[in-house]
Amino acid sequence: MHEFSLVEALFEEVDRWTRDHPTAVVESVRVRVGPLANVEPTIFRLAFEQLAALRTPTPRLELEEEPLTVACLNCGQVTEAVPQRLHCRQCGATDVRVQTGDRILLLSLTLLYPKSSFFVEDTRCEKPSP
Ligand SMILES: [Zn+2]
Repeated sequence: MHEFSLVEALFEEVDRWTRDHPTAVVESVRVRVGPLANVEPTIFRLAFEQLAALRTPTPRLELEEEPLTVACLNCGQVTEAVPQRLHCRQCGATDVRVQTGDRILLLSLTLLYPKSSFFVEDTRCEKPSP
């Protein structure tokens, strides 16, 4: 499915960002999706949950919608639009260029740095006393 390969690419991007932070774990991934990005949010979320479940701890998805805006090639105004009717709200022209709303953006990652002392204490507990 289309959304699954998008989420796979998203996690590749996440891994690229976290490569320089080997002790960090990803707590959450914030993504913005536009209405013209050709993504079904429900399926995207489902794909994310399935691929996120393979990771420990399981990262959380924060999904937000990017507003759809168009730049008018007639009057130059940038206005909001709806996917069914791309036109300028200022002058009504249909000669417009999509400004935002046709993309998927990885906005931010929340990383956690587990304390190394926690693991040291854990190891001590499992050792038999001399
Ligand atoms: Zn216009």
